Amino acid sequence: MDIGLRNKVALITGGSVGIGLGVARGLAREGVHLALCARNEERVQNAAREISKEYGIEALGVKADVTVSEEIDHFCSLVEEKFGGTDILINNAGTGSAEKIMDAPDEKWNQYWDLHVLAAVRLSRALVPSMRRRGGGVIINIASICSRQPLDYEPIYNVTKAALVMFSKCLANELVNDNIRVNSVSPGLIMTPDWRKTAGILSKDMGISPDEYLDRVAKKYAPIGRFGTTEELADFLVFLCSPRASYCVGSNYYMDGGWLTVTT
Ligand code: NDP
Repeated sequence: MDIGLRNKVALITGGSVGIGLGVARGLAREGVHLALCARNEERVQNAAREISKEYGIEALGVKADVTVSEEIDHFCSLVEEKFGGTDILINNAGTGSAEKIMDAPDEKWNQYWDLHVLAAVRLSRALVPSMRRRGGGVIINIASICSRQPLDYEPIYNVTKAALVMFSKCLANELVNDNIRVNSVSPGLIMTPDWRKTAGILSKDMGISPDEYLDRVAKKYAPIGRFGTTEELADFLVFLCSPRASYCVGSNYYMDGGWLTVTT
């Protein structure tokens, strides 16, 4: 079934591994050309090369730190040069934190603000003109269940992801008449190499195996009793990028195996 994405161009931040790589593969399968960025150049270039070979699409892998305005500008200029514009922007680059509000310095708040919020603002500002030229577009911001239901060890993560959801709503209102649909997606537990690394470290202290650690985390938080896969999340994101989701505007979609308990 053709879902109407063939030959579109998608820019995905943090597209070299985990959720970003999962959605890159999902979009490539539908014939979408890709521009991926990450800080580790070798990893992002390998990802682009492999996906391009596997799915027969054009893919660019660029070293860019999205917390640095000049690196975003450089990335966007390369994308403009190669593809002549962008139809889909997925602001995905991000990471968890660990602190107490009373101890964390301003610098840490600024660092996460730049990563989770300002990067999405800057990329939207840079790419919306080409979406307008092309007659429309899609922007998806990858937030987190923590934007609504905080984990107590990572307040800066919770706050900046909540800000990203509000940014998405405001941008959606601003762009809806340009045929540009903006939404955010808030995953719960999605299995990525980062989770495996965390499990490798923390399970040792607990005297259990990494798999047992991950199983305990899943059972503790997700009523479904397991982590989601990047493929499960990617399937939803690909749908949201497609014209099939034409009435999906300005929302925040949870994908969390039932973890969200807040109902109002
Ligand atoms: P990973 O750590 O597996 O991947 C993160 C990606 O972002 C990598 O490609 C990384 O590459 C890149 N990245 C990180 N910082 C920067 C930066 N400053 N500039 C450019 N690229 C960067 O994370 P996940 O796939 O798990 O998470 C992706 C998003 O989903 C994040 O925003 C996260 O908060 C969110 N999320 C994840 C959940 C999960 O359970 N996995 C749950 C809820 C939300 P490099 O290091 O080379 O820069």
